[in-house]
Amino acid sequence: TSFEEMGFSTNALTDNIRRCKYVKPTPIQSYAIPVAMAGRDLMACAQTGSGKTAAFCFPIINGVMDMQRRKRIVNHSAASGIACPVALILAPTRELSCQIHEVAKKFSYQTGVKVVVAYGGASTVLQLRNLEKGVDILVATPGRLVDFIERGKISLRNVKYLALDEADRMLDMGFERQVRKIVQQMEMPQPGARQTMLFSATFPAEIQKLASDFLSNYIFLAA
Ligand code: AMP
Repeated sequence: TSFEEMGFSTNALTDNIRRCKYVKPTPIQSYAIPVAMAGRDLMACAQTGSGKTAAFCFPIINGVMDMQRRKRIVNHSAASGIACPVALILAPTRELSCQIHEVAKKFSYQTGVKVVVAYGGASTVLQLRNLEKGVDILVATPGRLVDFIERGKISLRNVKYLALDEADRMLDMGFERQVRKIVQQMEMPQPGARQTMLFSATFPAEIQKLASDFLSNYIFLAA
């Protein structure tokens, strides 16, 4: 399948894909995107360089645009002073979160979708200022996100799309407690209302446990 045949409901996203010269989907993209577009949860085996970032970013951008169009309003929801993203992408490190942020921003160009990144080891001032301007897709590392949630700066009550990237590395780095706390926040209002995508390079028992705890009726993809 080509990107044109993947059923993105918006020309803006397809235009951005073309502009960025992504001509042919990589294997992980051709397997994961149709599954995600069908609304299913998925767990995918994907290494760095496989094109995994686009595999979760494209369906999320498409889904957020659909939500905005259906509501005929722009979410952003910063008016209350609490940022309420509709999509969350979790990554283990500052570097990875910044890379994902760049990709998500690039493909959200002229879509009206706002992407913000929050990572640890840097000043919170600029990150909070960006959050106050409104956020649809939040890219974050677990520690900084828990901090912002506890400080009442971010609420996850509206999250409809969740992607966990390099989940095995998040566990290796000791983020399991924070990750579980974050996912719990999303289960409070409506259990099962979100779509979840888990990406990992390896599949030890702890990752399988995470998948069975966070995903519902999911598709397993090993490219
Ligand atoms: P990732 O595995 O997501 O870090 O992507 C690895 C690299 O492949 C990045 O530099 C992407 O810009 C590039 N890339 C991902 N998907 C495609 C595609 N379908 N066509 C061309 N380049 C791609």
